[in-house]
Amino acid sequence: MPDAVQTQEARTMKAVVFHEHGPVENLSLESVPVPEPGAGDVRIKVAYCALNHLDLWTRDGLPGLKLEMPHIGGSDISGTVDTLGAGTERYGFQPGDRVVVNPGVSCGHCRFCRMGEDPLCDTYHILGEHTRGGYAEYAVVPVRSLMSVPEGVPLKTAAAASLAYQTAYRMVVGRAKLRPRENLLVLGAGSGVSTACIQIGKMLGATVYTITSSDEKMRLAKAIGADHVVDYTKDTEWEKTLYKLSGKRGMDVVVDHVGEATWVKSMRTLGKGGRIVTCGGTTGPKLQLDVRHLFWKGHTVMGSTMANDQEWREVMGLVYAGKLEPVIDTEFGFADLPDAHRRMEEAEQFGKIVIRVAGEPDS
Ligand code: ZN
Repeated sequence: MPDAVQTQEARTMKAVVFHEHGPVENLSLESVPVPEPGAGDVRIKVAYCALNHLDLWTRDGLPGLKLEMPHIGGSDISGTVDTLGAGTERYGFQPGDRVVVNPGVSCGHCRFCRMGEDPLCDTYHILGEHTRGGYAEYAVVPVRSLMSVPEGVPLKTAAAASLAYQTAYRMVVGRAKLRPRENLLVLGAGSGVSTACIQIGKMLGATVYTITSSDEKMRLAKAIGADHVVDYTKDTEWEKTLYKLSGKRGMDVVVDHVGEATWVKSMRTLGKGGRIVTCGGTTGPKLQLDVRHLFWKGHTVMGSTMANDQEWREVMGLVYAGKLEPVIDTEFGFADLPDAHRRMEEAEQFGKIVIRVAGEPDS
């Protein structure tokens, strides 16, 4: 009978799940079946999973989001290849290979995918949001979503970069087309996407402005390259301060994913020909627009989400090369995921919160 027991054990794994949408108390560490890879899929032994604000929204429940319960969240996965599903051999991965996962899954052949607009794909979905994700010892993902992680690049770094850096890269480079010596304003310096935007702005030779909420976060924002940082809790007319700091040119590009709380002021900072780009609104979804400014100053308002496969691979290459370096705020153990959610809910973090599921020997 020992064999039977072993087989039984081999088929379950630890995962942090929730059985219904709601507060952080709904998360629980449980034993669940190990997922089997279907055709075109690969099973990953998860080393790290990084948090995103999306995790909180998915846990709370989103309009139209119907999940198979219990759900396993977590979009930013890195680890090693465990088992190859049928038809994946030609991609060249072997068991044991160190890999990172693109959480954005597209079909690869529809009209939008062919145009490089993967996030607009008819079947676009995000691992950990629409399907089970990485807060588990194993995760099954499409082989097309994998990229090797070179030796010398920690798996923790790769997990921390995947969603935030592709989102930032598409907003700043793909959509707003930020140019050298332009002014870039990044709202909410502490988030993973914002720290990525600041670094990408500096890499491109822009002058980077940001607003944040404490002396410590101001110091950290400067440390990763922000040229001008304003504490919006002390300076409630920060939009005027930024305008003065820019020599009355205003901003060429603004990245605002804060939403209702900052949008009107963000729009006021825009100079002539300015572009404002958003990937969401953490403080609320309804935004105001003054059409007089929009047309007279030639402003452009852009929405953006995630990135296409090529952009993801480009920005991960920049991370691997050390040109962009994800800021790790804190690392939590697997069982401490609820504490990690609380830290993000309180907006205490600066950079990425990562969960060590199994870790790796070199970390
Ligand atoms: Zn498609």
